[in-house]
Amino acid sequence: MSKIPDITAVGSMALDTVTTHYGTHENCLGGSAVYFSMSASFQAKVGLIGVVGDDFPKAHVELLKNHGIDLDGLEVVKGAKTFRWSGSYLNDVNAADTHCTMLNVFATFEPKIPENYKKAKTLFLANILPSLQMKVIEEMGPDCYKVCDTMNFYINSARPELERVFENVNVIVMNDGEIKMFTDQANLIRAGRLVMEKFYPEYLIVKKGEHGSLVFGRGGFMKAIPAFPTEKVVDPTGAGDSFAGGVLGFIARNGRLNNENVAEAVRYGTAMGSFLVTGFSIDGFMDLTLAKIEERVEALRNLSK
Ligand code: AMP
Repeated sequence: MSKIPDITAVGSMALDTVTTHYGTHENCLGGSAVYFSMSASFQAKVGLIGVVGDDFPKAHVELLKNHGIDLDGLEVVKGAKTFRWSGSYLNDVNAADTHCTMLNVFATFEPKIPENYKKAKTLFLANILPSLQMKVIEEMGPDCYKVCDTMNFYINSARPELERVFENVNVIVMNDGEIKMFTDQANLIRAGRLVMEKFYPEYLIVKKGEHGSLVFGRGGFMKAIPAFPTEKVVDPTGAGDSFAGGVLGFIARNGRLNNENVAEAVRYGTAMGSFLVTGFSIDGFMDLTLAKIEERVEALRNLSK
């Protein structure tokens, strides 16, 4: 019998072409589910649901497997091409300029959840069409702890479906640009309050890139957590998903978020984002260990003192 993963995750799997001030990398491993799963894998067993074409390099599949990621939920479509995204960060290191999105195999994707994944205690909905996120929410059932992320693309193109997702999760993770766009507010505290009042999740975490994160609970704004000071940001692609991987990994080891542990969970997210951005694709995670992650969390704890 297949093992039950700690976290079931659904999202995009991609071949990305990314340009930053450190150069251009073509067709490198990317996608929201990939960054999330790689990041969470340092603390938890992830069951990944995603789709690729048969152009997706076998070496990438092996790499994910070597990180203990369960790929029973990975669909490989014969004769089809993997989702491709290209973007650059030449104007602003915190916000990608998207040049091209080629949905390819992603356009007709219907997530199929293996039976053992349905028993996972935690679900992460990485970036993917909100209608598909909703399908997975429904199939996972009411007892599963659900966390979602989103991006500008879906705020613009699928807002009603996205709002349904927000109504059905325990925790919402967004970045500052996304929540400002979503609420049409320039002030983050007000934007956070509006999202909490409308959807009433247990927590809302707003990521501000190099400026850290804000946590909102049911009583309103709770905490600001600093970012790890990082001078060399080579490629920020996937930092948000890696952040979520750190948070969900923490939850898998320590239980659901509460007012006592939420700041520590966010520090794990912050640490994972800070490692990721030091290289292109997932290079920032190579040679990483849980001990190094914990050392960085400790440094972040000291920064907040
Ligand atoms: P992040 O930088 O954390 O927002 O995530 C970057 C990843 O999102 C890249 O690896 C892209 O392949 C992926 N991505 C870009 N556009 C989309 C989209 N429309 N749907 C799902 N994933 C996407």
